[in-house]
Amino acid sequence: MEHQKHIVVIGGGIIGACTALELVERGHRVTILEPDQPGGPQAASYGNGAFISPASIIPMSVPGLWRKVPGYLFDRNGPLSIEPLSLPRLMPWLWRFLNAGRTQAKLRYTARALNALLQNGVARHQALAQKIGHADLIRQDGLLYVFPDRAAFEAETTTWSLRRELGVNCRELGHAELKELEPTLSDHYRFGVLVAEGGQCTDPGRYTASIIAYARKLGADYVTRRASGIVQEGGQVTGVRHEGGVLACDMAVVAAGIHSADIARSVGDKVPLEAERGYHIEVVDPNVTPSRPVMPSDGKMANTMVAGRLRASGQVELSSTEAPPNWHRADVLLGHLKATYPDLKVTEGALRRWQGNRPSTPDGLPVIGPSRRCSGLFHAFGHGHVGLNTAPATARLLGDLLENKRPEIDAAPYSISRFG
Ligand SMILES: Cc1cc2nc3c(=O)[nH]c(=O)nc-3n(C[C@H](O)[C@H](O)[C@H](O)COP(=O)(O)OP(=O)(O)OC[C@H]3O[C@@H](n4cnc5c(N)ncnc54)[C@H](O)[C@@H]3O)c2cc1C
Repeated sequence: MEHQKHIVVIGGGIIGACTALELVERGHRVTILEPDQPGGPQAASYGNGAFISPASIIPMSVPGLWRKVPGYLFDRNGPLSIEPLSLPRLMPWLWRFLNAGRTQAKLRYTARALNALLQNGVARHQALAQKIGHADLIRQDGLLYVFPDRAAFEAETTTWSLRRELGVNCRELGHAELKELEPTLSDHYRFGVLVAEGGQCTDPGRYTASIIAYARKLGADYVTRRASGIVQEGGQVTGVRHEGGVLACDMAVVAAGIHSADIARSVGDKVPLEAERGYHIEVVDPNVTPSRPVMPSDGKMANTMVAGRLRASGQVELSSTEAPPNWHRADVLLGHLKATYPDLKVTEGALRRWQGNRPSTPDGLPVIGPSRRCSGLFHAFGHGHVGLNTAPATARLLGDLLENKRPEIDAAPYSISRFG
């Protein structure tokens, strides 16, 4: 196939991986620029909860959240924490974040926009995994959202109704059915919702690496360098600067996760991007192996079998990307994990802890589409809590926008122009 353009994809996380493959398959010459191993522990794509859930359409910012913010400043054990010393720097982002979920109308807008990217997530991933020769990396056994009782579920009724309204199939389960589906679960959880169309990735880091390996097989180059900025001439991208020089290209895509905003800023594109820092703790070779992913309503964490290990991931910590990991947060997850699966036996030697950065915009939507300042430059970042899930849909949308084709979904909600 004749190569149309030389496109540099900056970043080899799940977004960069899917985008690179999409562009190679469309006949472009692609170079992936990534300083580390693809899907390595530096990337959010390595350590995430592995959920591919159609129910993930509800953003973090929902009406009434602002009332809880003072508590987050001092809560050592809750699911969301804000580091008090970072508060002055975070204020503009936080303000936009709270505003984005201030009303039901705003929540509905964001949920619809996320839904457009999340729809058919498992089917898209299954097709992709099959294509790259690793069908085993995606499973569809449904996802369980569990609650201490029906009242706890009803306290979230607005968001579950919105999910239903937007087409997410949810089956309510009483205690007996729940116990039958997941016998290892604590009796503390007596009500559940089964999202049968949901699935999981069985090893997100390996999945990302395998997509890149496949893209390379189809002809993509991989350059182990860190991008530091975009080179342009007369408002048109001509290359990507890195520590070893400049990689000349016709087009470039910024998909560097939390570091994307710095690269975008090199052409004057300003995006408020903060790290919603998250953690996981894994039990290697666990004696309890749940048959499907579970999210308990009180722990707000994803419990998933990943590569034979039981992984609990979650927590939102707003501080700074430079701050060292606060491993207490991972131990909070461990506490919940033990309470969720009372038969689980844990020894310190069997534990693995990880911290990573969700690349998050304040309005809970990614930035997908052309730069405002530099022709030939495109952005694909800011996927926050749903980057694994939405990566194939993002890649497809970006490919259409880059080739100036009419996309299947409305790209307006993801445009960088919403940030003024
Ligand atoms: C605890 C936790 C749980 C999560 N759970 C889920 C879940 O269950 N389901 C879901 O869908 N999503 C989940 N997410 C979110 C998801 O992991 C992210 O949205 C997604 O991984 C982002 O992918 P990315 O490719 O944009 O960024 P990353 O995966 O962070 O990749 C960015 C890549 O860019 C590279 N890079 C950085 N700087 C440069 C540079 N200057 N030049 C070149 N390359 C650079 C990095 O080395 C890295 O490899 C979770 C995240 C966390 C932290």
